[in-house]
Amino acid sequence: MRTLKKISALRTECGKAVRPLVLVPTMGALHVGHAALIRRARQIAGEEGTVAASIFINPIQFNSSKDLALYPRLEVADRRLCRELGVDILFQPSAKEMYYEDCSVFVEEEVLSRGLCGASRAGHFRGMCTVVAKLFNLFAPDAAVFGAKDYQQLAIVRRMVRDLNFPIRIIEHPTMREKDGLAMSSRNIRLSPEARKVAPAIYQALLRAKANTGSPHQVLKKLRRDLELIPGVRMDYVECVPAISPESATHWLQSTVIAVAVFLGEVRLIDNIRIPQHRPNSLKKAANCSQA
Ligand code: AMP
Repeated sequence: MRTLKKISALRTECGKAVRPLVLVPTMGALHVGHAALIRRARQIAGEEGTVAASIFINPIQFNSSKDLALYPRLEVADRRLCRELGVDILFQPSAKEMYYEDCSVFVEEEVLSRGLCGASRAGHFRGMCTVVAKLFNLFAPDAAVFGAKDYQQLAIVRRMVRDLNFPIRIIEHPTMREKDGLAMSSRNIRLSPEARKVAPAIYQALLRAKANTGSPHQVLKKLRRDLELIPGVRMDYVECVPAISPESATHWLQSTVIAVAVFLGEVRLIDNIRIPQHRPNSLKKAANCSQA
C-alpha cells in the first residue's frame, strides 16, 4: 500500500495505476462499515485493478468547530486496517494540502441539499461536494463507493456527478449495523455507555415505522413519539422522502426513505430505512410527508 500525503505524489501514482481504479472516500476512524465499502471496491476493481481510499476530516463540511475538534482521529489504526484490506493507494492529506488559504471556489448543490441534514447543518453539503469533487479530480477514479447510511449525501453526489459530467460510476453500499441494529458510525465511539445502550432503539423505531401500514403522516407521528421516548434523545429531524432523491415527498406509491437525525448527548446520529413500493391501504391517503 502506498500512503500519500501530497497531491503531486497522488497524481503521479493514480496516473500509472492499473484500471479500473475504485475510490472509497472517508473521514477515517474506520469501522466495519468502511471496511465493507473497501471490500466492495475490490470486487469492482478486480484482483488486477486499483483500490484507493482517502482519509480526510474535511474542515469545511463542519458547521461547528467543536464538532470538528471532537471528530475521532485514529490515523495509525486506520492505516493498518487499509493495509489489511488490500488498499493499494491511501491518501491522507492535511487540510493545508487540500485547501489554499485563500481558496474561493466551492461546489454547491442547490436543491437536494436544502432539507434533512442540509437544513440543520448549514454549509455541510457545500463542503462535502467541494471535497468530493476535488477527490474525483485528483484520483480520476472509474468508480467510487458510498454508503446508504448517508442517504442524502449519496443522492447529492449522484446529482453532482450527473450535472458536472464526472465520468465516474457511483456505487451504493447498504448500511452496515452492529449486532443490536445500531448503524455503524465513527461517531459511535463518542457515545456515553448509557447512550450506547439506548442507541439501538433508533433502528428499532425505524423498523416499526417500516411495518406500520398507516398513512405517511401517521407513520411519522408514531416514529417521532417512539424516538422521543429514548432516554436522553434530542430530535433533529424525522422525514420521509422519495427513495430516488431527497427532494420532496409525495406518498407511499413511490419507494420512500424515512430518514432521521437525533442527538444522544452531544453526539448526532443519523439513520434511514427504505420503505418498499407497495403500501396498498394508503395509496390515496396522500401525502403528508414533510418536504425535504
Ligand atoms: P465517513 O467516514 O463517515 O465520512 O463515511 C465514509 C463513507 O462510509 C461514506 O460513503 C459513508 O456513507 C460510508 N459509511 C459510513 N458508515 C457506514 C455504515 N454503517 N454502513 C455503510 N457505509 C457507511
